[in-house]
Amino acid sequence: MSEQTQEPGRSAPRRVVVAGAGMAGVQTAAALREQGFTGTVTLIGAEPHQPYDRPPLSKAVLLGKAEDSAFDLDFEELGIELRLGCEVLGLRPGDHELDTEAGPVPYDALVIATGAEPVRLPGAEGVPGVHLLRTLDDAERLRPVLARQHDIVVVGAGWIGAEFATAAREAGCAVTVVEAGERPLAEALPAEVTAPMTAWYAEAGVTLRTHTRVERVEADAVVLDDGTRLPAGAVVVGIGARPATAWLAGSGVVLGERGEVVADRRLTTSVPDVYAVGDCASFPSGRYGERLLVHHWDNALQGPRTVAANIVGGPAGREPAVYDPVPYFWSEQFGRFVQYAGHHADADRTVWRGDPAGAAWSVCWLRESRLVALLAVGRPRDLAQGRRLIEAGTAMDAELLADPARPLKSATA
Ligand SMILES: Cc1cc2nc3c(=O)[nH]c(=O)nc-3n(C[C@H](O)[C@H](O)[C@H](O)COP(=O)(O)OP(=O)(O)OC[C@H]3O[C@@H](n4cnc5c(N)ncnc54)[C@H](O)[C@@H]3O)c2cc1C
Repeated sequence: MSEQTQEPGRSAPRRVVVAGAGMAGVQTAAALREQGFTGTVTLIGAEPHQPYDRPPLSKAVLLGKAEDSAFDLDFEELGIELRLGCEVLGLRPGDHELDTEAGPVPYDALVIATGAEPVRLPGAEGVPGVHLLRTLDDAERLRPVLARQHDIVVVGAGWIGAEFATAAREAGCAVTVVEAGERPLAEALPAEVTAPMTAWYAEAGVTLRTHTRVERVEADAVVLDDGTRLPAGAVVVGIGARPATAWLAGSGVVLGERGEVVADRRLTTSVPDVYAVGDCASFPSGRYGERLLVHHWDNALQGPRTVAANIVGGPAGREPAVYDPVPYFWSEQFGRFVQYAGHHADADRTVWRGDPAGAAWSVCWLRESRLVALLAVGRPRDLAQGRRLIEAGTAMDAELLADPARPLKSATA
């Protein structure tokens, strides 16, 4: 793929259109203004609500501790035109136009930020009492369900499943989590790390059934593949998300095998003047030597700065901005604050800090002694220091690292 980007010194486009008004779309629009872009910025979103942040949906918003999670941004003051409740239907790059429900929209530069949508459970669609948790509307539908303190079956023991189960227990519901894999978070973390996390379910009074598939969902029950019938006042499906890119069919924008927009290191796509960022796009990680598709909040915060910098361009001779982050995410589950930084796929050594049966511990992944990833449970300082050490590719002394009383930053080789 050729690396299309605003050439340094070339005049910036006048009309930037952003498709998708979630975190990545909003941050792109805001970053354009921060970086001095003076042309028009139009942000088009399918949802009717004022743009909002998703993480609180499985936490404070779900439990009614916060009404909503609208971004605290004055779009009007920033000169960002919002077109909400307007679905983007297609892209015609030859004409530099988007097709939307409200008609065509011309652009000089387009940013694809349509995020991801939850994977649905086959056969469960349209069955009363079956819920997803991706949007504010989903969270609002689930709030009264929690208040009624039903028996709830959660399908999927991933990040969303664990967070929803946490909230449902807090609300006083009986919760069973059904997971097809052999353990929670099997795709995200190795077995030795998920082992202590699995114990959190029982501790919180949640029944976890692994190696178990849903055979069918009925109006008031979930039938499992071993014939067990679980009574269910509500079913919450959390079996993953896939990029929301169906609208790009036939546009010429190259999609990857996971349905995501294939971006280059500058977050430009295969089509001139079209960028992609956030949950909908993968990018080549120079740091980790593989293509990453990251479905976490921090990626939707950081990526937009690169996109904006490349749209704005800059003085002649300035290098184009390259996106090569240390990925970061957090999760709040079963009373724990879990944070992860880096990417451990290529690690050759694991070092534990603290007792994983306890309230606070970390796992460090090393490659040739350098810190490449870290998971911290209740140890935010480890995370903050570890993130910087990963960023810098610092070599660590494994023996010092294993001492949880020693600050991570002083365990360098
Ligand atoms: C319940 C929940 C809890 C989460 N908690 C955490 C957490 O604790 N920590 C963490 O790191 N990450 C968390 N995440 C992940 C994080 O929220 C996402 O990575 C982030 O929202 C991605 O932002 P985005 O803008 O790329 O995509 P999205 O947030 O999906 O936004 C995309 C927007 O585009 C719109 N759109 C889609 N298609 C079209 C179209 N054709 N036309 C117009 N608009 C369209 C969508 O309606 C949506 O509003 C959570 C996600 C969810 C759902």
